[in-house]
Amino acid sequence: MLLNPRPCPRRRPARRWRAALLASAVSVCLLAATAPAQPLGVGDRLFPYLGNPGYDVASYDLSLTYGGTNDKPLEAVTTIDAWTTADLDRINLDFAHGTVKSVQVDGRPATFTSAGEDLVVTPDRPLHEDSWTRITVKHTSEPVAAKDQDGGWVQTSDGLAMANQADAAHLVFPSNDHPSDKAMFTFRVTAPNGYTVVANGVPAGKDRVGDSTTWTYRTQHPMATELAQVSIGRSAVVRREGPHGLVLRDVVPSADRKALEPWLAKTPDQIAWLESKVGRFPFETYGVLMAQASTGFELETQTLSLFEKHVFTEPAYPQWYIESIMVHELSHQWFGDSVSPRTWSDVWLNEGHATWYEALYAQEKAHKSLDDRMKAAYGSSDRWREAGGPPAMPKGPAPGQKISIFRPNIYDGAALVLYALRQEIGGPAFERLERTWVQEHRDSTASTADFVRLASTVAGRDLNGFFKAWLYGDKTPPMPGHPDWKPTEPAKEAKAGKGRARK
Ligand SMILES: [Zn+2]
Repeated sequence: MLLNPRPCPRRRPARRWRAALLASAVSVCLLAATAPAQPLGVGDRLFPYLGNPGYDVASYDLSLTYGGTNDKPLEAVTTIDAWTTADLDRINLDFAHGTVKSVQVDGRPATFTSAGEDLVVTPDRPLHEDSWTRITVKHTSEPVAAKDQDGGWVQTSDGLAMANQADAAHLVFPSNDHPSDKAMFTFRVTAPNGYTVVANGVPAGKDRVGDSTTWTYRTQHPMATELAQVSIGRSAVVRREGPHGLVLRDVVPSADRKALEPWLAKTPDQIAWLESKVGRFPFETYGVLMAQASTGFELETQTLSLFEKHVFTEPAYPQWYIESIMVHELSHQWFGDSVSPRTWSDVWLNEGHATWYEALYAQEKAHKSLDDRMKAAYGSSDRWREAGGPPAMPKGPAPGQKISIFRPNIYDGAALVLYALRQEIGGPAFERLERTWVQEHRDSTASTADFVRLASTVAGRDLNGFFKAWLYGDKTPPMPGHPDWKPTEPAKEAKAGKGRARK
């Protein structure tokens, strides 16, 4: 995700802050069916109620029917195939917005209730550990945000798109809504004729029946729920070929197709540039979705990154800046999507790397000095740590702040850690580490500890002490090779950051 510099009009609920404070109260123990239903989580420090214990989802099959207006709920069926990792009297799913009409477990009707942001399902007979189960939920999917809820469906001027990071997929569909449980996805979206639907992955069917059409898409790689994307709109799909025959498809408002083409045409070279740094693009396809919406951020939804259209038409943004944010979201396809964070405290691995390649691209293509940017970041880093926590121990969502774990400490503050690492181990070892990281953890999840381990292996020495100081320290350690870099006064920071046009 990349926040853009405009103020965000919406607010995050205080309720989630209280939930964060209750972290220690959440346990992963599974209760007998006679006990009251309660929300469970997988123990994420920042989002204690996200995800659920006792099963591992292999696939989601989402059927959605869009009626042509954004003020009415979509009819939906979510089918989940999961492998049980414990005996279960109950199955908790994350689902917090929408009406559940029925639930079946392995073809038999099940009872259900809600507890917190969980849908708690009781099958008619308990499930045994190490077995497959299929959960089918008939429900509505609500495009109108509830009071105090952010994310999920994004209303555009001509339809809908999705923005689920970090904790909002379960506002759209019942799920195990944590990036540690990736799964395959099939989307079957029915919309009135005249609309175009595009989702993550590749097309797997288009059936026109009467006045509506059902569009089917399938992912060819596992995906975290937070990275799901479904675009429904009066859109054009623009196709072209990327490096080594990679199929690219962009989704833009039909009326703007021509005007946006110069931006769309940049993607193949950007992919080639990133491949020269970190290796092959990790997915089956890529493209940008330019939505007529005002989200306040851009988002790396897997194989189809979400951008606000106005980012490309707003004359205030210089061309190099727009290109660098395209590269930011593109680099997330490797860092964040293919390699997902094990917990949300590991999100610096997403944003630090995306910011790193964003800045490196700006240096190589537009002569914007990486050293200057990192020196400015060094000047601010102590203040960022104080406000948001050290990069690998970020503070929880704050009241009244939208998507508030996404603070500067995990963007330029974390790119600064990568810069320090490159200073410490040298360019060749750093580049080897980057390539090995995305290769070893491809289609999987990885943690900060995994990164520290691999960096130590690649560098041939124990880097635990280095990372402990840089990732978890309240104060920024001295920069290797730049003993003159010092924290700056806030006034100087404002001057150094001027022209960067980002938060
Ligand atoms: Zn990002």
